Amino acid sequence: MSYKAIYRQWRPKNFDEMVGQEHITKILINQIQMNQTGHAYLFCGTRGTGKTSAAKILAKGVNCLSTNQKPCGECDNCKSIQDETFMDVIEMDAASNNGVDNIRDLRESIKYPPAKGKYKVYIIDEVHMLSTGAFNALLKTLEEPPSYIKFILATTEVHKLPATILSRCQRFDFRRITEQEMMKRMKYICTHIHIDMEESALMLIAKNADGSVRDALSILDQCLAIGEGTITREEVINVLGTADDEFMLTLTDRIAERDTLNAISLIHEIMTQGKDVQQFMKDWIYHYRNLLMSKITKDLESIVSMSPENIERLKAQGQKLSMPSINNAIMELSKTSAEAKWSSQPKILLEMAIVKLSAPEMNTSLDGLLERITILEETIRTGHQLKSTISDEKASEKPVKKEKGIEYPKVENQDTHFQLKENNKDYQKLWDKIIADARKERPSLTMLNNGIIIKSIDENTFLLHAESESKKEYLNRNKDLIEELFEKHALRRLKLQCVTGFAKSQIKEDNNNDDEIKKELESIFGRENISIVEE
Ligand SMILES: [Zn+2]
Repeated sequence: MSYKAIYRQWRPKNFDEMVGQEHITKILINQIQMNQTGHAYLFCGTRGTGKTSAAKILAKGVNCLSTNQKPCGECDNCKSIQDETFMDVIEMDAASNNGVDNIRDLRESIKYPPAKGKYKVYIIDEVHMLSTGAFNALLKTLEEPPSYIKFILATTEVHKLPATILSRCQRFDFRRITEQEMMKRMKYICTHIHIDMEESALMLIAKNADGSVRDALSILDQCLAIGEGTITREEVINVLGTADDEFMLTLTDRIAERDTLNAISLIHEIMTQGKDVQQFMKDWIYHYRNLLMSKITKDLESIVSMSPENIERLKAQGQKLSMPSINNAIMELSKTSAEAKWSSQPKILLEMAIVKLSAPEMNTSLDGLLERITILEETIRTGHQLKSTISDEKASEKPVKKEKGIEYPKVENQDTHFQLKENNKDYQKLWDKIIADARKERPSLTMLNNGIIIKSIDENTFLLHAESESKKEYLNRNKDLIEELFEKHALRRLKLQCVTGFAKSQIKEDNNNDDEIKKELESIFGRENISIVEE
């Protein structure tokens, strides 16, 4: 038997099985029992809230042969409507049949009474997609349909329907399904198909389903496809390609601290893990929504699905942020998310949003921003004594010159341009030390944490490879500091040179110790001059 998606398999077959629409199902059940159904219905609501399911159940209800509860689900009519073989229930997707001709055909077929059932039921999905001409044609039919005809129109965008259509239909608004209702439904299904799921995994699915049972069940489906045994929150995170709470809290902290570059470098990090930009923005908007909630309710635990520790962090973060700044973030990210849908470069739009959020007063081009941050940092640096990373004596003698006390060794083989071996670990360690210090001076240099390698060192220069133009540029802007720190750790004053182009995979994890770096450096510079400085 071929695999049937959960949301199809578990589509409600009667009104009792429907989730979260009791305000509608009660009325429809009554109408069917009392034989007082109308001739035209309009079902409105976001996707996945049960509109088409309700339409089919209603079609069954009016055609059910049972004398008791309708629809019975047992009689011939109920069964063949369930199997979609019943000739008198006609489903039409207005998205692909939106022309006047389609509606004319429909009007033509209305002339013929039902073949088998009591009523001919036309279900027109996404009815807002009809053309104006088609609407007008439909209108005439809705005005005075034969008594054996029922129309059920469904739409996700009711505001696009002409008032003339609205006024001729009984309108029902399907509401978005709450997370609690969604979880209840998923638990019910999981119990029946013998699947174990962590409570937090279900919560995460419910949160991401955005009020749609269909979305929730198709996420569940994907989780079942990859998981074995109990399905964990971690697996759901993987399926969703979503970022976890931890990450959102950290990123939002960076924004609040106006630390643009670190925020952007966090984004780079998560995007290289293959996260989807759209999903990411959705999650982030949701995070700001949670912050908003933290401001207006004390009982955050019941509406936010997070670990207790992260709820505490969320509360603390909420206190730091003003209501307008949270609102602004939600607006800005929603706007960006909408634009990104049509963009071939959604990541750039996300970055621009980050710049705007973290530095609203600044020139919003990235170049302008880098420029200003570099200037700011330089100002801070020259205005103050360097704190601790560079020895006091050096700091007071800026710009650093070759000090008399230090003898620079002759490089024995002048022609040897020191080539970095592939997978070189020692230079990576050296670079890590340089950056660790650099960050203390200028936090934005965290950006150079990855994507840079020391490619080679010769008598006069150390050559860096940067993965991108922007990193190269940023290195050059901070040349003095990097050279200074190189000197601090390699005990040699060389000039920085930087070119772009390198592959990340060249760097591998290692467990090298400082002694090995020392050995390597000794072989370059001579024994006496090497000491690895620990912070
Ligand atoms: Zn029946």
